[in-house]
Amino acid sequence: AVESVKDLEVLPVLDKDVIRDNYEGFVAATHKGKNIKKATGGSSGVPFRFELDQESNERRQGVMWRGYGNLGAGLGVKSLYLWGANIAPVGAKSALKDKLYHAFYNRKILNSFEMTAYNLGTYVEQINAYKAEAIVSYVNPLVTLADYIIENDITIKSPKSILTGAEPLYEFQREKIERAFRAPVYNTYGCREFMLIGSECKEKNGLHTNIDHLVVELLGDQNKVISEAGVSGDVVVTDLHNYGFPLIRYRNGDRATISSATTCQCGSPFPLLQSIDGRKLDVIKTPD
Ligand SMILES: [Zn+2]
Repeated sequence: AVESVKDLEVLPVLDKDVIRDNYEGFVAATHKGKNIKKATGGSSGVPFRFELDQESNERRQGVMWRGYGNLGAGLGVKSLYLWGANIAPVGAKSALKDKLYHAFYNRKILNSFEMTAYNLGTYVEQINAYKAEAIVSYVNPLVTLADYIIENDITIKSPKSILTGAEPLYEFQREKIERAFRAPVYNTYGCREFMLIGSECKEKNGLHTNIDHLVVELLGDQNKVISEAGVSGDVVVTDLHNYGFPLIRYRNGDRATISSATTCQCGSPFPLLQSIDGRKLDVIKTPD
């Protein structure tokens, strides 16, 4: 029986291709045909398909809103998302449904994938017109916008906080975004398979991992668990609640480092990751 996180170590690590090759075997017999089906973007090649049950979906939404809420971007806060992936409701079929869905969440979505060197001004205009309390964004498009704002000496309507995700946030990028937007920038970390895995708190002291919801292990050579701070390893996640499609010790392709800090001024008991060191997503700029 598995009684502690340590006991997980006897179980094999689950890589994406194992799931791909044995997909039906991962769908719990009790949940066949009832799960919500999802896929990762497939930016690195073949899309990765997985499922989750309804309760797991609700839990992860809750975990996300808790993390975002701690940073001033909680449920219902007027927010602007500068995002590339389509944040669409499950089963959305029309633009109208999409629009209503986001309106109920009190948010506006700007597609970062459509951002070019020539339309940065329209993004600034939309941000200033919308007057969001919080901005949630990929890192790279926000840095591009920050450069544009600083170079052109533009006054932006400051949100109360800015959350970044889906890419590593380096300190020089944080400083630049904070200077352009005159608002604090917080790093969050998640992936499609689990949504929010960890997020910074207002202390900016590393990312608190949501261990009431997910087990997050870092593995080194020969899949040995890393317990010392400052050493980078593969992120391996166990979802404690997705009974419809159990992902146990799933290697998501990212790398991270444990923090040497064992407590945080904010009072959160959730352990800290010092940094997310590598992500599958990156940006390649082409001439156009
Ligand atoms: Zn904290």
